[in-house]
Amino acid sequence: MTECIFCAIATGDAPATTIRKDDRTMAFLDANPLAPGHTLVIPTTHAERLEDLDPETAHAIMDRLRELAPAIEAAVDADATTIGFNNGRAAGQEVPHVHGHIIPRFDGDGGGPIHAVLPRGPDRDAGDPEAIARAITDHLQD
Ligand code: 5GP
Ligand code: ZN
Repeated sequence: MTECIFCAIATGDAPATTIRKDDRTMAFLDANPLAPGHTLVIPTTHAERLEDLDPETAHAIMDRLRELAPAIEAAVDADATTIGFNNGRAAGQEVPHVHGHIIPRFDGDGGGPIHAVLPRGPDRDAGDPEAIARAITDHLQD
């Protein structure tokens, strides 16, 4: 059996409550759901971070997230979904195989927005935005 639990789920060597599977992607229920219907969408072949995906698989994952979000909301009568990736260990990624979370959200569920991911809130000392934008574009390929 492979050491990556999500690779094992993708090959059927480990169990999961599967919602959808195709050549590039698989969606299954999270084993520790934050809400009923909390779903993970993964590439069927191993990639650790979002930037490691080939473009076709990245597109397929986005398509799957788009398709599933309203179906999940309807299935569990949710009002919204929070959709996100922990991309790297420092961001909280525990399973080093790309996975997008679809977390059903309910009016008054007590949860926060993505801005609540850092407890101190918006960083008023986040540097010069123009310099940061330039530094980012310098790292982009054409
Ligand atoms: P992360 O913190 O890496 O973004 O999220 C990993 C998610 O995978 C967690 O929500 C965790 O509950 C879920 N998870 C970890 N192992 C398994 C597993 O073996 N099966 C399923 N279905 N979910 C898992
Ligand atoms: Zn893997």
